[in-house]
Amino acid sequence: ASAIQARGVGKVYAGERALTALEEVSLDVKPGEFVSILGPSGCGKSTFLRCIAGLERITGGELEVDGRVVDGPPDHIGMVFQRDALLEWRNIERNILLPVEFARKPVRDYRDRVAGLLALTGLSEFADRYPRELSGGMRQRAAICRALVDDPRLLLMDEPFGALDALTRDQMNVELQRIWLETRNTVVFVTHGIAEAVFLADRVVVFSPRPGRVADIIEVDLPRP
Ligand code: ADP
Ligand code: ADP
Repeated sequence: ASAIQARGVGKVYAGERALTALEEVSLDVKPGEFVSILGPSGCGKSTFLRCIAGLERITGGELEVDGRVVDGPPDHIGMVFQRDALLEWRNIERNILLPVEFARKPVRDYRDRVAGLLALTGLSEFADRYPRELSGGMRQRAAICRALVDDPRLLLMDEPFGALDALTRDQMNVELQRIWLETRNTVVFVTHGIAEAVFLADRVVVFSPRPGRVADIIEVDLPRP
């Protein structure tokens, strides 16, 4: 079965003037695959990701995640946005534990998991710090830990490093690749950076300018560590 199956997905935003964000997007993502979506600003990349996440309703076509029609936010999905959206009044560990609390699972079962993620992202010493005490790159790493804490089968990332400087972005890409090689979850990674898209992905899906449709799908065959 596919992790994600999109068949002619369309999205029209209603409003004073209806706006077609996605024309007809068809795409199959296999379990464990890392797919980048590349395209100019406004071509519907975020919209497509939010549809997969069940945060936005499609207005045409069919969309399934794990063989089930998307109808609201599914379980076991992790999402990272361009800005980290950490809660300033919670320390890093308690930010990372948010999805566990939302799922009403016992937090104590996740102490080792959190410690492991903090170690993986070099944040072990910052568990009890508050977001404002961390740099942009560190905050973004904490946001990635949060997305991974409940072991999502599907990780959706919407320009997660867009707000970072070029050097930090390169470091984050290397870290993300390392995490992915370890976890092997399905990833859909939205970016408008060509190098970034190619560096991490098995396949790069190129969206055409607005309204979004799949212009090209490029198989990437780069050596991995
Ligand atoms: P991208 O992520 O590729 O930059 P978006 O998915 O953000 O593209 O936007 C695609 C189009 O849909 C744009 O024209 C944008 O203005 C429009 N759009 C995005 N979100 C909304 C919304 N909530 N309501 C109305 N129009 C929207
Ligand atoms: P990045 O943004 O990639 O995390 P920085 O250059 O901001 O990189 O930070 C490099 C290192 O400096 C961090 O990994 C951390 O060890 C340390 N550091 C950064 N900011 C702080 C801070 N506010 N408090 C303590 N250590 C920090």
